[in-house]
Amino acid sequence: MAELKSGERVSLVGGKSVTIKKELGRGGQGIVYLVNYDGKDMALKWYNNAPDNYFYTNLNNNILNGAPSDAFLWPKALTERQCGSYGYVMDLRPKNYFEFGNFLMAKAKFTSFDAMLNAAMKICNGFMMLHRFGYSYQDLNDGNFFIDPQTGDVLICDNDNVMPQGEKSGIMGKARYMAPEVVAGGIPDKYSDRYSLSVILFMLFYSNHPLEGAKVVACPCMTEAYEKKFYGSEAVFIYNPTDKSNLPVRGIHQNVIRRWPVLPAVLRETFTREFSDEMLRNPQKRMIEQNWEKLIATIRDSLVICPHCHEETFIEENKNTCMNCSKPINTTLILKLGSRTLYLTECTKLYIDHDNTADVQVLSDPNAGLLLLKNLSSDATWAAETPSGKLKSVAPGEVMPVKAGIKVSFSQIAKAEIITA
Ligand SMILES: [Zn+2]
Repeated sequence: MAELKSGERVSLVGGKSVTIKKELGRGGQGIVYLVNYDGKDMALKWYNNAPDNYFYTNLNNNILNGAPSDAFLWPKALTERQCGSYGYVMDLRPKNYFEFGNFLMAKAKFTSFDAMLNAAMKICNGFMMLHRFGYSYQDLNDGNFFIDPQTGDVLICDNDNVMPQGEKSGIMGKARYMAPEVVAGGIPDKYSDRYSLSVILFMLFYSNHPLEGAKVVACPCMTEAYEKKFYGSEAVFIYNPTDKSNLPVRGIHQNVIRRWPVLPAVLRETFTREFSDEMLRNPQKRMIEQNWEKLIATIRDSLVICPHCHEETFIEENKNTCMNCSKPINTTLILKLGSRTLYLTECTKLYIDHDNTADVQVLSDPNAGLLLLKNLSSDATWAAETPSGKLKSVAPGEVMPVKAGIKVSFSQIAKAEIITA
C-alpha cells in the first residue's frame, strides 16, 4: 500500500497537481488527505489498493458529467496512476456537518423537526436527481451522509461507487442497507437504491433500523448467515401489522417506540406499506423519489408552532392538540394550496415548493389582533386579491393580513386561498 507524505505532489489527469498537507482520516478503502489544489484546501481520497481500470474510467466519467445536485460531495478531479495507486479530489466537508451514524447514536441531534424534514427532503431530491442522471448509488449507508443538525442540509459522500444503472461497481454495500434482493446476490440498481432510501428515511425519523426488533435482539451472534436471513430471505418489518415476531423491544428500541405513535400517521402508513412483504419482494413496486418528496411536503405542511408552548407539533385530521403541552391548537385558519392544507399559527414557517427554503412566515399583529403572512423570498413578489376583488402586491419582506377569502399567488403555479375551517 502506498501512503503519501506531506509536501508530496500528486499529478492530476489534465496536467494540474495537488500537494499533500496532512492526513485527515483513514478507512478500509483508503486514506483521505488534506491537499492544496490551486491554492484551495480540498480533500484527496487515495485508495489502499487501486481498483481496476473499469472503476478508474467510471470515476473519470462521473467527474466529467458533474454532480447530479448540490447534495453530493462529488469527485472533482482524478489523479494520474502513480505510487502504485490513484485517488480523486473533492471538496472538504464543512465542520458543522455530522455523520448520520452520530445522529443514530444521539451524539448529534436535529435542533428541530423542521431541520429533520429538510434533511429528508434533501436526501430524496438527491436520489431523484441521481437516478435522473442514469446512475445508481449502490452503496448507500449511514456513513455516506453528513448532516447539519441546525439546518438539515445534507452532503452525500463516497460517490466513487456511483455507476450507470445496471452496472456493478463490485461493492455490494453494507448488509443492513442492502435491499433483500441484493442480499440474495442480485445487482444493485435504482430499485434497490429505493429500498436503501426508505431504510435511511426510517432511521432518520425513528432512529432505529426498520428490520431490527425482537428477532435480531434474540440472535446470539450476528453472522453472515443470520444477516442474510434478517435483511434478506426472512426480513420482517418491526411494525408488520400481521407478523408480530420482530416487534421493537422495550429498553433497547426506545427511540422508535416513543416516536412511532407521535409522528404523523401518514408516515406510519407509508413505511408499513414500503416494508410490507410485498414491497420487500417486489422491487419495482417501491415508492419513487418524487412521491417521497410529496409525502415529506405533506408532513411539513402539518408542522406548526404551538401558540401556547412555542414548540413544534404536528396537526393531523382529528388531532389538533400539541404533542408537547397537550393544549388544543386553533386550526381554523388554513391556507389551501391545491390539494395541500397549511395551518396558520403564529411563528410557523411555510414551504411552498420543495427547495428547502421557507417562503412564508406567519406573524401576529397584536394591535389589529390578526395574523400576517410575511414574504420571506428574496425575489418573488406575491399577488394578493381580496374577496371584493382589490389587488395588492406583496414584495419580499412585506406582509399581508390573514383573512378568509384572500387569494394569493406565490408564483405562476402556486396559487392559494386563505379559508376558515
Ligand atoms: Zn404546545
